[in-house]
Amino acid sequence: MDLTFPPEAETFRAQVRGFLATALPPDWKGIGSMEQADAEAFSISWRRTLFENGYIGLTWPTEYGGGGRTKVEQVVLAQEMARAMVPLGRVADTTSVKMLGNTLVRWGTEEQKRAYLPGILSGDDVWVQGYSETEAGSDLAGLRLRAVLDGDHWVLNGQKIWTSRGLDGTGIFVLARTDPDAPKHRGITFLLCPIDTPGVEVRPITTLTGEAEFCEVFFTDARVPVANVVGEVNKGWTVANSLLGHERGEEAATNPILFRAELDRIIDLARRKGVADDPRVRDRLAWCHTRVETMRFLGYRILTQYLREGALGAEASISKLYWSEYHQQAVDLALSILGADAMVREGRRPYKHFRPDEPGAIYSSNSWIDVFLLNARSGTVYAGTSQIQRNILGETILGLPKDVLAT
Ligand SMILES: Cc1cc2nc3c(=O)[nH]c(=O)nc-3n(C[C@H](O)[C@H](O)[C@H](O)COP(=O)(O)OP(=O)(O)OC[C@H]3O[C@@H](n4cnc5c(N)ncnc54)[C@H](O)[C@@H]3O)c2cc1C
Repeated sequence: MDLTFPPEAETFRAQVRGFLATALPPDWKGIGSMEQADAEAFSISWRRTLFENGYIGLTWPTEYGGGGRTKVEQVVLAQEMARAMVPLGRVADTTSVKMLGNTLVRWGTEEQKRAYLPGILSGDDVWVQGYSETEAGSDLAGLRLRAVLDGDHWVLNGQKIWTSRGLDGTGIFVLARTDPDAPKHRGITFLLCPIDTPGVEVRPITTLTGEAEFCEVFFTDARVPVANVVGEVNKGWTVANSLLGHERGEEAATNPILFRAELDRIIDLARRKGVADDPRVRDRLAWCHTRVETMRFLGYRILTQYLREGALGAEASISKLYWSEYHQQAVDLALSILGADAMVREGRRPYKHFRPDEPGAIYSSNSWIDVFLLNARSGTVYAGTSQIQRNILGETILGLPKDVLAT
């Protein structure tokens, strides 16, 4: 197995390291080491620095403000940012830059690219994802948000739910049913809907934590110009499915770094609590260690496929299933080690949502509790549940019969 990057990627790596050396303070200990408010303020200014230096939308064509770089270089960038303990954008960039931006680069018309990509890159425009509905999560193709053509507009009626950061969105990209008579995967269209469109109402869903991370979005005769269709009418399923490729490629590069750093913090926690010699704890730590090592090699495998073919198939499901199920066990171990201390909330919440906190994170019971209760749990649900990932693997790799529920 050849684990080296091509020489031009290493040249780019040196360039990124040079940038990081000048852009970060000499005593930099990572965003993870900051208190909550400082980390938040840093992430805003850091996002601006990345944008001004061309590191957001690195692979996008230069004529739309992108960096015009290769996928290999994007992976190198993700690795170097993770190693330097800085984020590669804001949380909202997941849906805005990685999902919609990359989708527009691939499927958007010239006008759409010129109209939307600059705002997405600068962060002035934030797009959120309107896929799920109350009766269409795993069975996404069963969605019912209706779009009816009226002159040069599509008129939307229906509802979306679980829209992450819906309150921050300036726009929502939705999957809508445009042909109710076609087989369910073939009557769907991908549409761009500005949030301030009359008839669009965003209602926060307050969760157990008291926060409104999710929203439900209602559409009542909301009119969207036909120019806002991405791809072809009734071919939205293909557009929708191409959306996650980049994110999963980056994950393969950064997951091993982030999960290793988290496990090191758990080992450190075991030492602090004086249980590092307890055979039961050692057994579970060893289990975690083997999983993280496996994740590292899995990462190489996924990366190889991504860089060779520019897209990911079932490998993406293996990766998602592996890290999300591992993470619940790892954080459960951290909470067991904390014991009764876990009931005393101290320190700050994790900077990162759904994933391990940034390398360099400070010791904090709050951090572990929040990861476990709020984030690690949801890892096996969002972007396709574990059962759905297993269905995909069963069908595409093992050649098992198709899931009867999905047909
Ligand atoms: C943190 C988080 C963020 C999210 N952000 C967004 C967002 O921004 N935009 C958006 O559109 N959506 C978002 N979602 C929604 C997410 O995509 C759905 O929750 C997910 O697809 C599962 O759908 P569901 O909740 O309707 O569960 P259901 O589909 O109702 O599933 C319920 C249970 O049944 C199982 N199941 C269902 N079908 C099958 C089957 N065929 N075979 C075996 N088991 C099956 C599932 O695995 C699950 O355990 C988010 C979810 C989370 C947790």
